[in-house]
This record gives sequence, C-alpha cells and structure tokens, in this order.
Amino acid sequence: MRVIIVGAGIGGLTAALTLLRSGLEVQVFEQAAELREVGAGIQISPNATRLLHRLGLTDPLRQVAVRPQALQMRRWEDGKVLSRQPLADVCEATFGAPYYHLYRPDLLAVLASAVPDGIVQLSHRCVGVQQSESGVAVTCEDGMTVSADVVVGADGIHSAVRALLFGPESPHFSGSIAYRGLVPAERLEHLQMERNSSAWLGPDRHFVHYYVGAGRFVNFVGVVPGKDWHVESWSAKGEVADALAEFATWHPQVQQIIGAVDFTNRWGLYDRDPLDRWSVGRVTLLGDAAHAMLPFMAQGAVQSIEDAVVLAKCLEGADHTSVPTALRRYEEMRKPRASQVQAYARRNGTVFHLPDGEAQRQRDAQLAAAGGSNPLLASSWLYGHDVEAELSADWHGTT
Ligand SMILES: Cc1cc2nc3c(=O)[nH]c(=O)nc-3n(C[C@H](O)[C@H](O)[C@H](O)COP(=O)(O)OP(=O)(O)OC[C@H]3O[C@@H](n4cnc5c(N)ncnc54)[C@H](O)[C@@H]3O)c2cc1C
Repeated sequence: MRVIIVGAGIGGLTAALTLLRSGLEVQVFEQAAELREVGAGIQISPNATRLLHRLGLTDPLRQVAVRPQALQMRRWEDGKVLSRQPLADVCEATFGAPYYHLYRPDLLAVLASAVPDGIVQLSHRCVGVQQSESGVAVTCEDGMTVSADVVVGADGIHSAVRALLFGPESPHFSGSIAYRGLVPAERLEHLQMERNSSAWLGPDRHFVHYYVGAGRFVNFVGVVPGKDWHVESWSAKGEVADALAEFATWHPQVQQIIGAVDFTNRWGLYDRDPLDRWSVGRVTLLGDAAHAMLPFMAQGAVQSIEDAVVLAKCLEGADHTSVPTALRRYEEMRKPRASQVQAYARRNGTVFHLPDGEAQRQRDAQLAAAGGSNPLLASSWLYGHDVEAELSADWHGTT
C-alpha cells in the first residue's frame, strides 16, 4: 500500500508519521524548496497533544513548548477577567495530556525530524491527480508522474487537490483581518504577565497573546474588521502604528504588547463551508484542505492531527481494492466533528466581537458561569476527545 501525501504542513507531516507507523509506504510532495512555517505562535490542545505524545514526540515537544497556566478571557477596556480555565497540571489531570503553546517553526521541526529521510520531496508542486480502475497518479509541475494506491491532499486552504476533486470554489472572507507579532519576552517583563493564553474581547475585535519558544517570545494576534483582502499571498507586512491605532482605546497592556514589537504581519481571515464529501475513490483530503476554519477556536492544526490519526487507522487494514471503502470510513468519522469545530469557530467571530450592551453582558455572565468547580470541563467535548478511543470503540461495534 503506497500513499502520496500532497503538502508537508503540520497536517501532511503528521499524516506521514501516522501512516508510516501503520506500515504503509509514504511519499510526501511539498511545493516549497524548504519546510517552512510562519514565524508565529500556535496553540495545541490536549485532543492533539495526546496523539503527538503517542507518536513518540513527548521529549522534543516538551523542550520547545510552553505549558500555560490558564486560558483566560478578559474585557477589552478594563482588563476584567471574564473567565479562567486552569491548565498546566489541572489540564493533565482532567484530560491526561497537556495544553501547549508553540512557536510554529519549532512544531514543524519536531514533526519533520521524526519523519525518516527521503520521505519528503521538496520543490514538488502537485498539478494533477488522475484516477483509473487500477490506481491513482499524481503529476507534478515538472511533468513527473508517480502512481500510488491512495492520494491525500494536505495542501492547505488553497488546496489544488480539493479543486481537482470538486472544482474551483472561492473561500469565504470573514470580514476580519489579523495583525500577528512576536515580541522578545524580556521587553515585556515589567508587565509581569503569567504564562496564560489571554483573549481580550471587545466590540468588533479581539486580541490574543501567549508565550512561545520555551518562553522566549510573546506571540500576539489582533483581530480587527477588514475590507476584502486582495493580497496574493493573503499575508502582508503590517504597520505597527496601524495595529496600535486599531486598539487605541483598549487597556494599556494591549497597547504595550503591540508597542513592543519590531514588525507585524497582516492576514486576511478566510474559511470554507463544510464539503459534502472529502473523498473521491482513492483520493481524500486532510487538514485545511478538507475543513479550512477561522482561528477563533485555535483548532485548525489540531483537527488536522486528529485527521491524520484516524486516516492511518482506517487505511491500516485496507488493501488495494478496499481503499475507497477505508477512505469513506475516515470521512464518516472525521467530517461531523471537524464541521462542528468549523461552525463554532465562525460563531466565535460573532460572540467575541459583540458591542457593549445586553448581549455582551449575557455572554460575559455565561463565560463566568461555565464549568462550575472545574471550568475546564466546559471544554470536555473538544479537549477530552480521544480519536483513538473513538476508533477502538467503533472497531468493536460499540458506537
Ligand atoms: C491567525 C491564525 C492563528 C491560528 N492559530 C491556530 C492555533 O492556535 N491552533 C491551531 O490548531 N490552528 C491554528 N490556526 C490554523 C492552522 O494554522 C491551520 O489550520 C494549519 O496550519 C493547517 O495545516 P495544514 O497542514 O492543513 O495546511 P498548511 O499549513 O497550509 O500546509 C499545506 C502545505 O501544502 C503545501 N502545498 C500547497 N499546495 C501544494 C501543491 N499543489 N503541491 C505540493 N504542496 C503544496 C504548502 O506549501 C504547505 O506546506 C491558525 C490560523 C491562523 C490564520
């Protein structure tokens, strides 16, 4: 059983690891000349860290991760803490796995170092996928064609494989853009910030910050209203002064974090509607290619890691003939959950940005009440989910 994965992002590399572990032959085609991630932070919640740990990545992840003390929501104007979910030891005791904050290039490097040499082929841009009775083949830009039993499109929100399967379709602009920045932590020592993930909620916008790079940097994302986005790469240099102006009336701590950065990048925030199907025959999708979502649940990469584990388990016992059935099973298990998270992320775009008033007061009251004695339990459906336990229950016919 030979699998070609298109794209070596977090989803594609994790899939390479899970498929190799399941005994399949794997090749990854990546268009870029080197493995790259944007120089920003990423939150990886326990529903994915437990899977990464089981792949043997516990030690390398611990070396580069920050294990935050809490997830907290704060009010934009006065910094009032609206909700606080304890993490660190409480998270591990509740869900059996940690919550991590990571510098994205560190996470990619941890995944890439675990993939044996020769599996990832750089500078290979996929431009075609052809299926026949006997198999499937991928064609790269240089004309090279390679055949396999299965093709996995893990090629991100602009997925060429998705377009080849289901036709071109424009992603949905959220009406928001994000300013992203990384501040050397020593510049913010005077603020004496705990190692938390803090999301400040305010009218039309929100601001998130947390430590990454084993505590060397404070990563921030400021989400503000934006006009439609026409920059080709969907990201561009942003002026620090513009970011400051967007949060001019906000709490001084937000201002101080933005003011300490050397430069920012601006990103148009897009997602896609859930697809009716992810797979056609021997070809399927994974990660953003399957379910691009807004970052307001911090789950896009996390869901791609869940995808990778389920895909490998579904293909583990399959043979050349049963591949389409195995891919249908993968899609049936993954699509409802990924679509639910996609919908929640969209909904948070409204809930986080409520103008001050009755609806905002109700939201704040709900945030304060969520979870009772262990506020983390409010997130059990998301963080407590173990796709391997789900698979095992499914295998034994108990679900
Ligand atoms: C502001 C922001 C904050 C976020 N925060 C979080 C967070 O805290 N937690 C979280 O889980 N998620 C977060 N996300 C979402 C997360 O970044 C994505 O969901 C995740 O990176 C998707 O991974 P992927 O591997 O599916 O796709 P990508 O990372 O896009 O990787 C796709 C790869 O495919 C390659 N490729 C593309 N086309 C081709 C082709 N034709 N041939 C060969 N290779 C190709 C690309 O070069 C790339 O390497 C955030 C997103 C944003 C915008």
